[in-house]
Amino acid sequence: GEPHPPTPSAVPRPAAPGTPPPPALRARSLGRSFGRGRSALTALGPLDLDVAPGEFVCLVGPSGCGKSTLLRIAAGLLRPGTGELEIRAAGPRPAAMIFQDYGIYDWKTVLANVRFGLDVQRVPRKEAEARARSWLARMGLAEFADAYPATLSGGMRQRVAIARALAVEPEILLMDEPFAALDAQLRTILQDELLDLTQHTRTTTLFITHSLEEALVLGDRVLVMSARPGRIIAERRPPFGRPRSGAVRGAPQFAA
Ligand code: ADP
Ligand code: MG
Repeated sequence: GEPHPPTPSAVPRPAAPGTPPPPALRARSLGRSFGRGRSALTALGPLDLDVAPGEFVCLVGPSGCGKSTLLRIAAGLLRPGTGELEIRAAGPRPAAMIFQDYGIYDWKTVLANVRFGLDVQRVPRKEAEARARSWLARMGLAEFADAYPATLSGGMRQRVAIARALAVEPEILLMDEPFAALDAQLRTILQDELLDLTQHTRTTTLFITHSLEEALVLGDRVLVMSARPGRIIAERRPPFGRPRSGAVRGAPQFAA
């Protein structure tokens, strides 16, 4: 018989110029409560949220407003109660997340913790080791590669968690108050590193903080949440935008 001509729907059509790409993260009427009956507590939402590919969005809100709940849902660790949340990675890079409470394995060395995500991705052993060591060095932890996390300070453990998430070069980065436990100087250094990295690699980032100041420094866009149940009540675009790559050169280096 005659070969069928391709059906128009089988041919992916290029997006019309000016059409924005689909969001990397999209939430609609997303809500979550905990408990049942009289003891039920509405922790989050309902809220709508779109994060464009490559965008750096900061979510700021008071303690207990549901920020971590939102991130846990985004990470697939918790089901939404109502509505939906979709994460859409366009390429092969994984999504990664950094927990507020570190999520570090105490029975693995620092190096093994950072290598863990790379092993999951089946990065060859030698390359995984080299990448892990290079991230530890950037975090000022080169000399602690063989140490166990229990022997480290809170700030150092947090840096291990950051190195572990960034080492997998995620397409979408979810961060839950990653710098909260750090002193001001270290926080500034890591903020600069993060901006530099996410701009160079076009990493989509959802960054949660309770500090409006930090949100305004980092975000392309800042979303402000109400007290519990957290809903988005305001949106700001910082007036001067994010510092351009290169503006962070000259940032002080860690002493190991
Ligand atoms: P935030 O990160 O903004 O400080 P959370 O998302 O951690 O807020 O918590 C929002 C609310 O939901 C809080 O009142 C918290 O006590 C409650 N909550 C969070 N997780 C649970 C849970 N697993 N079980 C019961 N209540 C929870
Ligand atoms: Mg939290």
